[in-house]
Amino acid sequence: MKAAVAHQFKAPLSIESLAQPEVKPGTILVKVAACGVCHTDLHACHGDWPVKPNLPLIPGHEGVGTIVAKGDDVNHLALGDKVGIPWLHSACGHCEHCLQGNENLCPNQQNSGYSVDGGYAEYCLANADYVVKIPNNLSFVDAAPLFCAGVTTYKALKVSEAKPGQWVAIVGAGGLGHLAIQYAKAMGLNVIAVDSGEHKLSLAKELGADYCIDYNEHNPAEQIQTKFGGVQAVVCTAASKAAFSGAYHSVKRGGKCILVGLPNDDMPIPIFDTVLKGISVIGSIVGTRQDLIECLDFAAAGKVKAIVQTQPLENINQVFEQMQHNEIQGRIVLTME
Ligand code: NAD
Ligand code: ZN
Ligand code: ZN
Repeated sequence: MKAAVAHQFKAPLSIESLAQPEVKPGTILVKVAACGVCHTDLHACHGDWPVKPNLPLIPGHEGVGTIVAKGDDVNHLALGDKVGIPWLHSACGHCEHCLQGNENLCPNQQNSGYSVDGGYAEYCLANADYVVKIPNNLSFVDAAPLFCAGVTTYKALKVSEAKPGQWVAIVGAGGLGHLAIQYAKAMGLNVIAVDSGEHKLSLAKELGADYCIDYNEHNPAEQIQTKFGGVQAVVCTAASKAAFSGAYHSVKRGGKCILVGLPNDDMPIPIFDTVLKGISVIGSIVGTRQDLIECLDFAAAGKVKAIVQTQPLENINQVFEQMQHNEIQGRIVLTME
């Protein structure tokens, strides 16, 4: 099978022909039709984070396709089913977090395209218990970005507990952010989008953002405080340290700052303001299978639609280059044929 493989951090991926993985008990083999490119894949291939993936690695955690083989013990899925393979490749199923239905917090989880091979390939092995079926009326290309960007931002907004009619800010209107704007609007929230450049901000506006701020032209926190008195919640999806301080200073008293983007940096948080203003700073990591089902339902109902450009798998290095320079509108989805 054809796959894009990372052999060395910060080096281009190579397109190779590898043996197709074989199904084992508890697994399914998916013929991948498409796989979204998440900024996390770029962090993985650059070795940006404290816990590094083992190389060689096939990245990708927004892979979608058709089940072509399954372990003998897999009874709840059928050959031909259309599924997506999310970041959460598997969890232990019996720790405190798994038992509470928070499998995204399991300390014994495996991650697609990070600790195990992912979707930048024609075939991908997945854990049968952690894939989620794609609603019939969604195409592979439309569904792919929902398996990370969609579920992550949908979950972050749930974590924010912002209520209809309240204002939220979405900092970073890229792959995650452009979906966050749509989920927020579908939830009845008022949205301020923060990013830079006409092509990002005009898309944000088209997708329903009520107000847009170019972070290269204005100080977003200052504008949000003076014009709106602060927001109830901010979801920071940018991969830049500067964005996080700005996000923190955008919330009002009692507000919540939800951290989603993953630059390898520390975030300065003033203790005095946090205490006196009752501000919460909360990390949010992807979502559970139930979150994923709900987030797909929004798309199936036509309330949310990923803005997608497709590229063949072979172009992954150019796509990473574009991502590095913040040039992508919405999500790029790699297609396998
Ligand atoms: P992306 O590159 O598609 O989008 C990032 C956006 O942030 C771009 O549009 C860029 O222009 C914008 N940006 C950069 N600096 C900014 C600033 N100072 N203020 C406002 N916007 C700014 O990336 P993505 O795929 O959306 O991923 C974003 C981040 O989220 C990455 O760090 C990724 O690893 C992380 N992530 C986290 C989770 C999670 O579960 N917490 C899940 C997926 C991705
Ligand atoms: Zn991702
Ligand atoms: Zn667990």
